[in-house]
Amino acid sequence: MPASVETKTLKNFIGGEWIASKSDKTEAVPNPATGEVLAYVPLSSREDLDRAVEVAKEAFQSWKNVAVPKRARILFRYQQLLIDHWDELAKLITMENGKNFDEAYGEVQRGIECVEFAAGAPTLMMGTQLPDIATGIESGMYRYPIGVVGGITPFNFPMMVPCWMFPLAIACGNTFILKSSERTPHLANRLAELFKEAGLPDGVLNVVHGAHDVVNGILDHKDIKAVSFVGSQPVAEYVYKTAAANGKRVQALAGAKNHSIVLPDADLDLTVTNIIGAAFGSAGERCMACAVVVAVGDVADELVSRLVKACEEMKIGNGLEKGNFLGPVIRDAHKERTVKYIEIGESEGAILVRDGRKDDAVSGEGYFVGPTIFDKVKPGMKIWQDEIFAPVLSVVRAETLTEAISIANESEFANGACLFTDSAKAVRQFREDIDAGMLGVNMGVPAPMAFFPFSGYKKSFYGDLHANGRDGVEFFTRKKMLTARY
Ligand code: NAD
Repeated sequence: MPASVETKTLKNFIGGEWIASKSDKTEAVPNPATGEVLAYVPLSSREDLDRAVEVAKEAFQSWKNVAVPKRARILFRYQQLLIDHWDELAKLITMENGKNFDEAYGEVQRGIECVEFAAGAPTLMMGTQLPDIATGIESGMYRYPIGVVGGITPFNFPMMVPCWMFPLAIACGNTFILKSSERTPHLANRLAELFKEAGLPDGVLNVVHGAHDVVNGILDHKDIKAVSFVGSQPVAEYVYKTAAANGKRVQALAGAKNHSIVLPDADLDLTVTNIIGAAFGSAGERCMACAVVVAVGDVADELVSRLVKACEEMKIGNGLEKGNFLGPVIRDAHKERTVKYIEIGESEGAILVRDGRKDDAVSGEGYFVGPTIFDKVKPGMKIWQDEIFAPVLSVVRAETLTEAISIANESEFANGACLFTDSAKAVRQFREDIDAGMLGVNMGVPAPMAFFPFSGYKKSFYGDLHANGRDGVEFFTRKKMLTARY
């Protein structure tokens, strides 16, 4: 391996130290806006993972006994350090993921909010008691950590998604192995480093970089008690089945195909702004992205023409340059896949009203695809069905709200759904009848705050307890019941 490559190869964070992987396999991590290689990420081996688990298992013996308010104080210090490094973290996100700086800045905020929630551990960890379940007999529930937890995360939110997991797991007294996306490994390292600076004891949070070998190691390891996964649907299903078969607690958040329904009474200025943000923000690489608009009744023509106009005005380019809204997709292969989906949409007979293959940025450096809109898409078409995870928006036309809801409900995914309207009655019908976990009204991306669960259904989620909120606390703790006669 040439020295230039060697110096850029990232290390794992195990037991509070930077340790080179035992594997000599690496993968390049390019800046998707320029193609420039930022670093090489090690594709760590089982041996690396085993070492991390050993360290985390040992650290658990003392961390679980650290008083909960003391744990919380470290979280408070961590929160302040993240605030102090806000710009730096956001810049790092833009460099390795491609989303624009403002979006990256917002992502850092969402990560910090998770730390703030986790810092409430003394309240969150409380149990419940009943002093007299029978004469002279009392009963109480006590909450404890579960042990070593493994977290496997995707590329699209390199800070927020890991922050759904490790701050709360650790605040609850567990120790943690993070396997972040090999496509965005820098954030994980920086997050771990800052947590150590905040006073987290060595071995409580460990980062092992890599791909499926590390994932399979986590799923198999007898000393990992729970696995939290966020990523694409096929991998989520595999992780859920494998980890559960190995007796682990598992939550696996998966892909999406979110529908936004627009009624004729919607405020179109607000609707267009929100749909543009939701469909093309982060280059469509969000599990809460708006992938399909269902235009109801006579709103369709006006809505489509306004969406197209907004796309024409959109600035495409490196997200670090002010004013650029649409950044690149994550890799060249993902760009090619997106272009293929545009060809599929054309061959299926959908009307391509905005062709993102023709934008100037597409032929330059970086992995850019311009904003793309298909009109008159029909349910059942591949571009309607599959998660494209790119700046490609489908517009389906419907006659009524009831029909629009039933189109959305036909999707095999059920993460989020939005409604744009002025009618309370329509909102009620939408809330009652739509089959999705996270609903928005007159807004584009209704991602819940850290103190609420992040909940999808159907092929968007495998497991019982969702991420964040009370569900997260339940997931990262186990309970003991004490019934006593004195
Ligand atoms: P991905 O499934 O490719 O990767 C996720 C993680 O799984 C990574 O750490 C990766 O190394 C690992 N992995 C990938 N292939 C594997 C395999 N064959 N065996 C074992 N491990 C494997 O997902 P991605 O492309 O990084 O992220 C985008 C996906 O994540 C989208 O589908 C998006 O909808 C989803 N996502 C969902 C949510 C949610 O809350 N539901 C949130 C964010 C992202």
